[in-house]
Amino acid sequence: MSLILATHPNTYSGSPLDRVSPRRDDSAWIATQMADPATLWAPVWRARSLMVGVAEGRPEAVFLTTEAAEALRMAGGPWAFLGLRGETAVFAVDVSHAEDPLPLLPEAGFTFTDLRAVRGRLAAEDASVLAHARALMHWRTKHGFCGVCGHTCEPRAAGNVLHCTNPTCDTQHFPRTDPAVIMLVHRGDRALLGHSARFPIANMYSTLAGFVEPGETLEEAVAREVYEESGIRVGRVQYHSSQPWPFPASIMLGFYAEGLSEEIVLHDDELSDARWFTRADILNQESLGFVVPPLDSIAGRLISDWMAAV
Ligand SMILES: [Zn+2]
Repeated sequence: MSLILATHPNTYSGSPLDRVSPRRDDSAWIATQMADPATLWAPVWRARSLMVGVAEGRPEAVFLTTEAAEALRMAGGPWAFLGLRGETAVFAVDVSHAEDPLPLLPEAGFTFTDLRAVRGRLAAEDASVLAHARALMHWRTKHGFCGVCGHTCEPRAAGNVLHCTNPTCDTQHFPRTDPAVIMLVHRGDRALLGHSARFPIANMYSTLAGFVEPGETLEEAVAREVYEESGIRVGRVQYHSSQPWPFPASIMLGFYAEGLSEEIVLHDDELSDARWFTRADILNQESLGFVVPPLDSIAGRLISDWMAAV
């Protein structure tokens, strides 16, 4: 099969932010931005993002001005500088410790909603910023203590680094992004898709996926995960695209992999079923009683671009 290129940007990609990372250590500049009335704040509450219009089916991201965000910020959760959107600084602030953050908001009608619940319906650039805020606040709220010595950590670099407060340790901790490979295994006109009981949709079949392990190339991770989950051996592995996946802290690295064998054997407990599907099967998924992932996931994009590559 010839090279299959990504035909669309993945959801959560295309951030409008310039991260201006050298500015993170300029505490005077950061303080000025935090006090600027035009600065925007992306609140995160227990991994949920602030939106409006969710119940009406027209979700939009809400970024609060400095004044509108004041009550949330006074509640004292972690915050971090995300970057500049044009001339405007954008920060994330976590308010997870508030039992009910809604009374701290400037107006009614806003909700804290899981990014996954609104699928690809947010404006693409906003979705990217909310994914960034969610991933960074997840790291900040889960890494309050040093993994080396157990002392408390304090934020540096405008919330983008955590520094151990134990002077004999002095370790710096950086935000974690865990790489996961996700791959469509193809053999002629058929694609290997699997079903897991953990999938949010009961009859969904998707591409196989798994975390990269230490000491492994991405290609080796693809081959290992496919064999462990399905018993299929793969040959040539070809890169497609990547997708930030802050659920809670991954980046999905998408590939096509050439299937060298046919017999499916479920070696581990990851999948409850795996099958080969033809393009015609996938076109007729409704009548055949299964669905493939929606296009806001890289799995959906891998399948869609493979379908078109004939
Ligand atoms: Zn330490």
